[in-house]
Amino acid sequence: MKCTRCRAKAEVQLRAHNAGFCRPCYLFYFRRQVERAIAGERMFTPGERLLVAVSGGKDSLALWDVLADLGYDTTGLYLGLGIGAYSEQSHTKVAQFAQRRGLALRVVAFEEEAAGLAVPAVAAATRRPPCSACGTMKRHHFDAAAIDGGFDVLVTGHNLDDEAARLMGNVLRWQKDHLARQRPVLLPTHPRFVRKVKPLYLVSEYETAVYAFMRGIDYIVDECPNAAGAAQLLYKDVLNRLEVASPGTKLAFVKEFLRTGQPAFAQTEREAPRDCEGCGMPSYGPLCAYCRLVREVQSKASAGASALA
Ligand code: SF4
Ligand SMILES: [Zn+2]
Ligand SMILES: [Zn+2]
Repeated sequence: MKCTRCRAKAEVQLRAHNAGFCRPCYLFYFRRQVERAIAGERMFTPGERLLVAVSGGKDSLALWDVLADLGYDTTGLYLGLGIGAYSEQSHTKVAQFAQRRGLALRVVAFEEEAAGLAVPAVAAATRRPPCSACGTMKRHHFDAAAIDGGFDVLVTGHNLDDEAARLMGNVLRWQKDHLARQRPVLLPTHPRFVRKVKPLYLVSEYETAVYAFMRGIDYIVDECPNAAGAAQLLYKDVLNRLEVASPGTKLAFVKEFLRTGQPAFAQTEREAPRDCEGCGMPSYGPLCAYCRLVREVQSKASAGASALA
């Protein structure tokens, strides 16, 4: 196959786009995809300060790489979840990337916030699935770090596969609230929220993997051990099978939802949040989900301590 742009020998074939690229043209294409998403959805402008959530995986590091190359003012945010070797290795990958590229990195380690707040400990204390506890804690710390650091935008590396799998999950249960908020740009609904954007929302996992490989980005290949068995992986598998049979399915699923389906759900969006009485962050009840979780952990810990006394 020949490169769609320059007719040299193609190194990558993208069936969903009916295109192939040599290495330099692929890097050009990938950056253009990101630039188009940013411009098309008015995600941010060159003068704004971006906080890029980086997990150590290929998507977030590839995104940070592109944004830095495009000249944006970026700072990375790494959350230390406390999930054993996975967390240690992913932290190392992020720190090495930031150092090599000379980029600023902020690190928030859950277990250093207060005792017992590593994800496995919170999940055990509250008897919640680890991903549920983790999701609540991540959302809180992303929002808090963005506002505390004076950033304009929180940028995440969710890709097309993530968005398609999430959409499938939301549709299968007709989760109207979630469908109302599934967009590549979320505008703040509270003074302590910042804009949240996903510049890779139309770029597939395969495309970011190829970009990361070509750029020599050293990322963590292993998934979080808690990901195994998660519904998201099942949806991704189903979508991949559909994609093989009919290339472009994922792209059409997400794009058409955003164009035709999402506006109908957006009208049902819930009311604006108020201030959490515990931490001051936005909340839909007296206490936000994070503060409720932390209090539950603390009350279990004190109950455990008094039982031992
Ligand atoms: S798989 Fe679950 S526990 Fe692991 S990082 Fe993702 S949400 Fe957190
Ligand atoms: Zn080419
Ligand atoms: Zn709170």
